[in-house]
Amino acid sequence: MRCAVYPGSFDPVTFGHLDIIQRASKLADRIVIGIAAHSGKTPLFTVAERIDLLNDVLKDTTLPGKCEVVVEGFDTLLIHFMNKHKAQMVVRGVRQYSDFEYEAQMSALNAKLSNRDIETVFLAANPEYQSIASRFIKQVAQLGGDVSPFVPPQIVAALEKKS
Ligand code: ADP
Repeated sequence: MRCAVYPGSFDPVTFGHLDIIQRASKLADRIVIGIAAHSGKTPLFTVAERIDLLNDVLKDTTLPGKCEVVVEGFDTLLIHFMNKHKAQMVVRGVRQYSDFEYEAQMSALNAKLSNRDIETVFLAANPEYQSIASRFIKQVAQLGGDVSPFVPPQIVAALEKKS
């Protein structure tokens, strides 16, 4: 049983995140999407809202791999969340080189903090979704721009409600 944790803020989930989940479904038997409560960012959506939105969007998402996907919030160290789920790998998406510098540092830190073998799997962003970041989507939505090319319809509606 290969279990992967895909951690992030998902504030809100975008087509970029969904692409990573779809591709990771070919690598793992189970993916736990971990919604970080303490990501150092001020969130627009609460953890409960982000969990509901992700579950809603996942209902409409086809996974190419045979994989179970669950969504859960966490407010602990990533390695403790991974231990809870007996996960062997962390999945992260990398959009550009600047993402990689941060991600490589986090991966090395997690490897040091963990008392067992864990691997971080970096998936290069699909060029089609490379420019999508949740923080930009929130700004575009707040200024009245059309975010439908970047996020599923449920998220367009949720962003409209918040603005
Ligand atoms: P953000 O950096 O947009 O606030 P998150 O913290 O929710 O996003 O990111 C969770 C993970 O998803 C990170 O590994 C991040 O690099 C990745 N990710 C975010 N947006 C994309 C995208 N457009 N394409 C690929 N990976 C992405």
